[in-house]
Amino acid sequence: MPTSLPPQTEGDVLSDAQAMVLALEQAQCAAQMGEVPVGAVLLGADGRLLSVGANRTVCDHDPTQHAEIVALRAATRKVGNYRLPGASLFVTLEPCMMCLGALLHARLSRVVWAAADPKTGVCGSVESLHLHPTLNHHTRVSGGLMAEDAAQALRDFFRERREQKKLQKQAESVPSDQSPLDGAP
Ligand SMILES: [Zn+2]
Repeated sequence: MPTSLPPQTEGDVLSDAQAMVLALEQAQCAAQMGEVPVGAVLLGADGRLLSVGANRTVCDHDPTQHAEIVALRAATRKVGNYRLPGASLFVTLEPCMMCLGALLHARLSRVVWAAADPKTGVCGSVESLHLHPTLNHHTRVSGGLMAEDAAQALRDFFRERREQKKLQKQAESVPSDQSPLDGAP
């Protein structure tokens, strides 16, 4: 399951790059489930892995199940506290309004994202809510770490999905009462 911790990293203090690599792995888990590939990793104040999350909005029928929220819920339940001071979240896509709000409520120390999201990103793309002085006293937000890897995963996913839809349309355009073998000698 994407919410279980990768065993090789349990107990280690992770660098930013190592954390983002794990987040990218979570994004791949999401893609394998047919979800838009976004992954997140939460490190505790000690720099050790606390939780991971993969986007699962479609399979859970739940628009709040973005990777950041999945990781955040797993971490707060594990710690037994709705606030995670000192913790850092790494996510492969710029957070949306909902996720940034939740991350600020949790009082994380840092949020680091990879690829920009020109459609719903509120950490510089659509809005810059992370800089709002009355919203954010606690959390440093920065973007662009391994942006190209994360963006490539998204491009691959959407290209494959377009190709699948095209094939599906072609299959549907063959009248159902007509076998492809009709007219064959
Ligand atoms: Zn979100």
